[in-house]
Amino acid sequence: MSIATINPFDNKVVKTFEEMTPETVNSAITQAEDTFKTWRTQPFSRRTEILHRVAQIMRERSDDLSKLITLEMGKLYAQSQGEIALSADIVDYYATNGEQFLADEQLKPEFGEAYIKKSPIGVLLGVEPWNFPFYQVARFAAPNIMIGNVVLVKHASNVPQCAQALEDIFLEAGAPKGLYTNLFISGTHVSNYIADERIKGVSLTGSELAGASLAAAAGKALKKSVLELGGSDAFIVLEDADIDQAVAWAVIGRMNNTGQCCVAAKRFIVVEAVADEFLAKFKAKLTGLKVGDPMDSTTELGPLSSEGAAVQLADQVQRSVDAGAKVILGGKRIDRPGAFMEVTILTDIKPGMAAYHEELFGPVASFYRVKDESHAIRLANDSPFGLGGTVFTANKERGKKVATMIDTGMVFINHPTWTQPDLPFGGTKRSGYGRELSALGVEEFVNKKLIRFS
Ligand code: NAP
Repeated sequence: MSIATINPFDNKVVKTFEEMTPETVNSAITQAEDTFKTWRTQPFSRRTEILHRVAQIMRERSDDLSKLITLEMGKLYAQSQGEIALSADIVDYYATNGEQFLADEQLKPEFGEAYIKKSPIGVLLGVEPWNFPFYQVARFAAPNIMIGNVVLVKHASNVPQCAQALEDIFLEAGAPKGLYTNLFISGTHVSNYIADERIKGVSLTGSELAGASLAAAAGKALKKSVLELGGSDAFIVLEDADIDQAVAWAVIGRMNNTGQCCVAAKRFIVVEAVADEFLAKFKAKLTGLKVGDPMDSTTELGPLSSEGAAVQLADQVQRSVDAGAKVILGGKRIDRPGAFMEVTILTDIKPGMAAYHEELFGPVASFYRVKDESHAIRLANDSPFGLGGTVFTANKERGKKVATMIDTGMVFINHPTWTQPDLPFGGTKRSGYGRELSALGVEEFVNKKLIRFS
C-alpha cells in the first residue's frame, strides 16, 4: 500500500495503486526513447501547440484537479486552485518563449565563425514531491518538452491521482505516447533505474536524503542531475521596516500551503528595536485560525500532507523544547482526527537545537531577536540550507546590500520568497544545485553544441 491516496483530513485510505514492475518500467523507458527520436525533430510550432493545449486543459479542469490536490495532500482548496493557475501559466510561458530561449547563439571567435546550437539530450527522469503536485512537475516538464527532450515522472507516492492526471492531460492534449510518462514506483526503488543508459539526466525536488541518494546514483552513472531540496529561509526585519506590512507578509510567508513550502519563511530574525512589536503582532495574527476541512472555503488551517509529516514536525518541536526552546504559541498536535498540527511560534532557539538546524516543514515559526543588521546576516547564514530569504527595510538600497550578503539562491526585499514563471528558482549549499523556471530553466538539460566553420 505504499502508493496510495490517503486523505490527511481524516487519515482514511481512499485508493491504492500497484507499484509498476521492473518490466513495465523497462517498456516505458523503451517507449520514451522511441518517442524521443521523432519528438526531437518536431518543429517548435508542434511543441508549442501541445503545451498550450495542456495549459488550457489544466484551466478548464481547475475545479477537479484542485479537489484532487486537496484530497491527496490537504492543501486549502483556494490555494489548490492557485496552484493549477500557476502551473498552467508556467506551461504557457515555455510554449510562448521557448523558441526564443533556445535560439542559436552567435559567437565572435578570433578565428573562423561559430555558433552554439542548443539540442535536446534525450529521456529525462524527474522525481517530484507532493507539496505542489502540479507546479513542481510543470516547471520540470514544460521547458524540457519544449527543448525536445521527453520526460518520465516518478511522483511522490501520496499523490498518485495527481500523478496520473498529469499524464492523462498530456495525452489528451495530443502528446505522443512516451512524451510524458507517469511511473508508479516508490522512492526507495528509483536509484535502480538511474544507471539505465537510455536515461540521460535526472532531476529531483525533495528532501536532502532523497537528493543525496539520487545524485550519488547519477554521479556513479556519469549523468547530470539537478537538485531542488529543502530550505530554512530567513525573514529579516530591520528597524526601519514597515512592521505592519512585514507582519502581514510574514503570516503568508510562513502559512502558505500550511507551511509546507521549500521557500517558506521559516526563521524570523528581527532586530531588537522592533522585536517586541513584531512578535506581538505576528502572534496575534496567527492566533485562532479556523481549523477544519481543507475543502471548506472558510477553513484557515488545514492538515499537513500526511500523518507521518505531522508526527515528524511535532517531534522536532518537542526535541527543541526539551533542549530549552520556548513555545509562545501552539506547540502540539491538534486533538482531532487527521494530520493536524497547531500553529506554533518558538523562541529562545540556540545552536544545537532541532529548530536551529533542521527544516521545519509545517506551521511552525522560529523567532530570533538580534542586535543589529550584521548580527541578522550572520544568523541568516548560519544554516546548512541556502534556498531563499527575505529582508524587510524601508530603504531599498540597504535591502540590496543585505541581499548580497545572504548565502542563498534567491533573496526578496519587502516580500517573502515567491515564484513566478519568469524568475529563476533554486538554491545553494544543502538546498541543491541547478535552476528551474525563467530562461535559466531551459539550460539544464540541453547540449550546448559548438558548431564552427571557416
Ligand atoms: P522526499 O521524501 O524527498 O520525496 C520527494 C520525492 O523523492 C518523492 O517522489 C519520493 O518518493 C522520492 N524519494 C524518496 N526517497 C528517495 C530516494 N532514496 N531516492 C530517490 N527518490 C526518493 O521529500 P518530501 O518530504 O516528500 O518533500 C518535501 C521536501 O521537498 C522538503 O524538504 C522541501 O523543502 C523540498 N522541496 C524543495 C523544493 C525546491 O524547489 N527546492 C520544492 C518543493 C519541495 P516517495 O514518495 O515514493 O517516497
